[in-house]
Amino acid sequence: MKNIKDYDLKDLELEFENMGEKKYRAGQIFHWLYVEKVKSFDEMTNLSIELREKLKKNYTMCNYNILRKQESSDGTKKYLFDVLDGNAIETVLMQYHHGKTVCVSTQIGCKMGCKFCASTGIQFIRNLSAGEIVEQILAVEQDIGENISNIVYMGIGEPLDNYDNVIKSIRIMNNQKGLNIGARHISVSTSGLVPKIYDLAQENIPCTLSISLHATTDEQRSKMMPVNNAYNISQLLQACKDYIKTTNRRISFEYALAKDNNDNLEDAKRLVKLLKGMLCHVNLIPINKIENGTFTKSTNENIIKFRDYLNDNGIVATIRRELGSDIDAACGQLRRKNL
Ligand code: SF4
Repeated sequence: MKNIKDYDLKDLELEFENMGEKKYRAGQIFHWLYVEKVKSFDEMTNLSIELREKLKKNYTMCNYNILRKQESSDGTKKYLFDVLDGNAIETVLMQYHHGKTVCVSTQIGCKMGCKFCASTGIQFIRNLSAGEIVEQILAVEQDIGENISNIVYMGIGEPLDNYDNVIKSIRIMNNQKGLNIGARHISVSTSGLVPKIYDLAQENIPCTLSISLHATTDEQRSKMMPVNNAYNISQLLQACKDYIKTTNRRISFEYALAKDNNDNLEDAKRLVKLLKGMLCHVNLIPINKIENGTFTKSTNENIIKFRDYLNDNGIVATIRRELGSDIDAACGQLRRKNL
């Protein structure tokens, strides 16, 4: 059966027209799903009983059950959801001063094999559908009884490797009749799938693009992120410049500092050279130690020195607050523990 949450408003209108129903019904259903946040077609009381029966016969609503939940002392919550086909995905809720942010997964497993990531040991199973991505927000909202204001596509999976479903999920979240989360409050992260960065620039969705850079030479980056063998740093930065030029949006570069790997002054100098003149921001991430992982966390002293060097040389850099460090916040860890 088809999942009703897999449709953006336009597609749902088309679906209804093809079913011989009035187009405006799609808007009503969107309202029930994303404003009233109902869990069954029977609750859609302004639809005729006949139409509700028709919907029940043809569509599911993919309501997630929580398999496991971990709560950190800083308010971070990490959920493991049952995606109703025997698989499980994880979603993280973080509390920032600007509101509640949910970090969504986009795939079950991941193909990219980044060496610092706990998901690397988990085999790729499948893409999540648009509805399965959106449901993560709805399920968290239901659990906490509050609305979510920011979304980051930084959970398990490479978002741009599931491009069409990710774009559709953004359109559902961003739609004023849907979850009504502004594109500027949505951040899409990529390990560096260059052709898809060019595509994203053309979508006319002013979301923030976040690039997992993590290294300043190709040799170093290829060791950490195999994707660099397909698209090197120079190709990646060229695509970023195109994104900035087309969208006029600032790019966020993620740089996970690992001890004695990419955290010395020479790295900071090369980073300044690479990013000089770009409309960007650098997010320094103290890497979370992963079980059996190759990388360990940088010292606080090194992290601060690194940040100060960037800031003193014209690159805006901040250190990301370590959220959920007491609950296995590196992606993949909760799921792996449950297997
Ligand atoms: S960091 Fe992201 S892209 Fe890289 S392996 Fe982990 S989930 Fe995949």
